Amino acid sequence: MIYLDHAATTPVPRAVADAMLEVLTEQYGNPSSQYPLGAGMKRRVEGWREAVAALMDCPAERLFFTSCGTEGDNWALRAAAWQNRHVGKHIVTTAVEHSAVLECCKWLERDGYEVTYLAPDRDGAISAEQVLAAVRPDTAAVSCMLVNNELGTVYPVADVARGLPARNPRTLLHTDAVQGLGGMLSARALGADFVTVSAHKIGGPKGVGALYIGPRVKNPRPLLPGGGQERGLRSGTEATAQLAGFARAAELRLERRDRDREHLAALHAYARETLLAIPDLVPVGAGAAPHILAVSLPGWPAGNIVNDLGAQGICISAGSACHQGKPSHVVAALKLPKRTAAGVIRLSFGPDTTEAEIGACAQALRRHRDARMPML
Ligand code: PLP
Repeated sequence: MIYLDHAATTPVPRAVADAMLEVLTEQYGNPSSQYPLGAGMKRRVEGWREAVAALMDCPAERLFFTSCGTEGDNWALRAAAWQNRHVGKHIVTTAVEHSAVLECCKWLERDGYEVTYLAPDRDGAISAEQVLAAVRPDTAAVSCMLVNNELGTVYPVADVARGLPARNPRTLLHTDAVQGLGGMLSARALGADFVTVSAHKIGGPKGVGALYIGPRVKNPRPLLPGGGQERGLRSGTEATAQLAGFARAAELRLERRDRDREHLAALHAYARETLLAIPDLVPVGAGAAPHILAVSLPGWPAGNIVNDLGAQGICISAGSACHQGKPSHVVAALKLPKRTAAGVIRLSFGPDTTEAEIGACAQALRRHRDARMPML
């Protein structure tokens, strides 16, 4: 099998699975229990927090474990809205956010919020000036993702953070950095008030994530009131095996981060060159993230391409780019010609992806194109 869908999820390395197995079968204590099997786990939870914080480059005491990236996005937006409930009921976000942000915004609209959805240009770009210009005296929160999951576009979150105080010093900034963890994330350098990440995009297990909450967020509203875990903000017995896996994955990524960055940049360049040599194939967006490449075969529907390659054991995605036959909200926001939009596919790479795998995928794509008449 050739797996080129790392933006959807990533394989779990054996070392990560082993770390989880040890916790499941031997160190199964509840961190809230007093005897050594439990108390020891409490210390280990803090160690795991430090490992993830090291990869995110943020203080461990400001990091809170969650059950996934979706939870982190929802918590951040709700917490920002709560803190700034006397500032106003306006939120700024982009039209290309993950649905975890967009659907939460829709719920906030039902609660009386007005949401400004910023449109990208044809390359998927949104400038910091565009974001800042939308901020008003009643803007409670800005939510702008770090790396787009469908296009690989990197957004200028640090510039937004720098410019925000001059526009409205009380507006809180959230960034969904789920696709930036492992590669380009430094929470310290970004300067956002909330940063969401998820373990399964970096070789960790599904069902665990984290939210950084910065010092400008005073007395954050608990997401889940209850037994008081996560310093009272997110109660629920810690998912210790998931946390152990997240931490081990973070350690592995941190150890090889520079090597991976170079490898992925080289792969991205190779994939672009190889794929663009296929007749009719065009690039989509101007994504700078090295692990994501979006392209289109205008006239060849993405769903058919994904099925055909899937049958040959090659995993790529129209996934987000093709919800029930309709182009995704991200592709739609680019306002591409209809045929181009319908043919958008995404390849995404991991640290162990090889040029040979990308070459085999390119050949399969070429065969798909050559064997079929354009349909649209
Ligand atoms: N945000 C982005 C940009 C994502 O790519 C994803 C997952 O695809 C999520 C949020 C949701 O993360 P999770 O699957 O952990 O809920």
